[in-house]
Amino acid sequence: MTQQPLIYDLHCHSNASDGALTPTQLVTRAAEYGVDVLALTDHDGTEGIAEARITARDLPIQLVAGVEVSVTWGANTLHIVGLNIDIENSQLQNGLTALRDYRRGRAVEMAKRLEKAGISGAYQGASQYASETMLGRMHFAQFLVAAGHAKDTRDVFKRFLVRNKPGYVPGDWATLEDALGWIHAAGGQAVIAHPARYKITATKLRRLIDEFKDLGGVGLEVCSGIQHGDEIRHLAALANKHQLLASCGSDFHSPEQSWTELGKISPLPASVTPIWSLWPQPETRKPA
Ligand code: AMP
Ligand code: MN
Ligand code: MN
Ligand code: MN
Repeated sequence: MTQQPLIYDLHCHSNASDGALTPTQLVTRAAEYGVDVLALTDHDGTEGIAEARITARDLPIQLVAGVEVSVTWGANTLHIVGLNIDIENSQLQNGLTALRDYRRGRAVEMAKRLEKAGISGAYQGASQYASETMLGRMHFAQFLVAAGHAKDTRDVFKRFLVRNKPGYVPGDWATLEDALGWIHAAGGQAVIAHPARYKITATKLRRLIDEFKDLGGVGLEVCSGIQHGDEIRHLAALANKHQLLASCGSDFHSPEQSWTELGKISPLPASVTPIWSLWPQPETRKPA
């Protein structure tokens, strides 16, 4: 009898950042959708991990502690996923705390800019959707939809909160060096998240990969959500060319966004080396 390959989903969000589900709901849903190994990777914080771990203990799923760190690289905002991190590490936690402090100041500024565009009460409004620690653009998006300024969150990210639109504040996040330093201090592996989503040229992406590797980064997210085969082949070739390990994750935020469902990720091409080749083989506790 041939064994089914394990399903890895190494990128998703709970309501500890800008996801809709609690860590318990998220892990339970992932198990229902057949995920064998799940990394919870909330933006700039690890508050959801403890609860996710407890929930995973009673389900046929293994939890990997992760985080998605916001980085400013030149004029670009990038996301670096850290996997297998020690969430007790103080260097990591100090860094993440600074990023969340920055988020609060940015949110005040975003609200000010929305106010100038005639939209008041955005800070309070966005806070209603956010956890105590992490305030992000998704929470502003939820407020803007509820207040009738946009039809859905996708519409918000076209008309507000992005360059040249009301509410936009250019990011001033961690440096690439700091982000990788924190992840490595916590014993984790660094992965460039959703590389196809950055609006950078191929030359710049190669430069990013070179810098990332010089800093000890090891992974590239080859599959992110549901993607075209061409994009996957391109990213797989890039990973192999630069000797990076391949990661994959849904980037799930909410059950309402069906294009990023937990575990619904194209399989990694056979040509790449998965990042989990570094890890011990997980126990599969699924009933045979
Ligand atoms: P922030 O880190 O607060 O700047 O917010 C970034 C988050 O906003 C991403 O992780 C997504 O959850 C969300 N986001 C950004 N762009 C879009 C988009 N075009 N459509 C839907 N959500 C988006
Ligand atoms: Mn998000
Ligand atoms: Mn991201
Ligand atoms: Mn993400």
